[in-house]
Amino acid sequence: MAGIMEGKKGIIFGVANDHSMAWGIAKILHEQGAEVALNYMGDVMEKRVRPLGESINAPVIMPANVQDDASLDAFFAEVEKKFGKIDFLLHAVAFSNKEELSGLYVEKTTRENFKNTMDISVYSFCDLCRRASKIMNEGGSCLTLTYLGGEYYIPNYNVMGVAKAALDASVRYLASDLGNKGIRVNAISAGPIKTLAASGIDDFTLMQKWNCYNTFLGRNMSLEDVSKTGLYMLSDLSSGVTGEVLHCDCGYHAQGMVNIDHIRESGELLIQFEDRLDKKD
Ligand code: NAD
Repeated sequence: MAGIMEGKKGIIFGVANDHSMAWGIAKILHEQGAEVALNYMGDVMEKRVRPLGESINAPVIMPANVQDDASLDAFFAEVEKKFGKIDFLLHAVAFSNKEELSGLYVEKTTRENFKNTMDISVYSFCDLCRRASKIMNEGGSCLTLTYLGGEYYIPNYNVMGVAKAALDASVRYLASDLGNKGIRVNAISAGPIKTLAASGIDDFTLMQKWNCYNTFLGRNMSLEDVSKTGLYMLSDLSSGVTGEVLHCDCGYHAQGMVNIDHIRESGELLIQFEDRLDKKD
């Protein structure tokens, strides 16, 4: 049976290794018949990304840094040469100085890192959408990855939370601008998953445990969860969806207060939590 992405081609920015959300999505798109072009950042990343790309027969595997216009020009020229037109773009790119993803936002944030974080994590989506839309078929889909820290305060997320708020707003402006070309623009707001980028956030493991307690599904997210939602958002299955920030977080975003009876079932984790809270007293 033909896959739902048969004949579709597109660009994926943000594979670093096989834990990357971008990789999970690239793999499922390929399994469903799509051809993908992958970028990587520098020689160190190439060692991981090239074999992954080759395993899914990616026709383009090239360096591209979202802060370097020449590298983007070369990347998009190669994509156009190989693919002609494209059908989708995934932006799974974020960066901030690790030092500033810990402690108090008011004390830690520098002008230099604020600007750099916004440039890499927010402006790049606008830039990639502009470039991609010039070679995108009508009905195409652009997707970014965001996090709840752009809607609510999350400890240590700091300047990245402010960047995600701007990214969420960008989705709506880009959806309006590209809507008249029949191009959709959306975001997935994913629950926490251990990746290279996530390891830069202080106390990430605690964040995951907290999440596990506070989701309706009583578990953490998997790469497969995000990948399947990515497939939906980048395929025609979501043809009527645009300007949307879709939460894929096992229900965390909708929970006002956890049902204590559900927590008690995960006794061991609860004890670890109480320990931690005692130490904080
Ligand atoms: P990851 O480290 O696998 O991916 C981040 C990617 O950004 C890397 O491939 C890196 O090379 C790329 N990147 C950084 N600076 C770049 C630049 N200047 N030019 C080009 N690429 C650059 O981590 P991930 O968790 O898969 O992150 C992907 C996206 O998902 C990010 O936007 C992240 O904020 C978002 N997200 C992650 C989580 C999570 O818990 N892991 C949750 C919600 C949203």
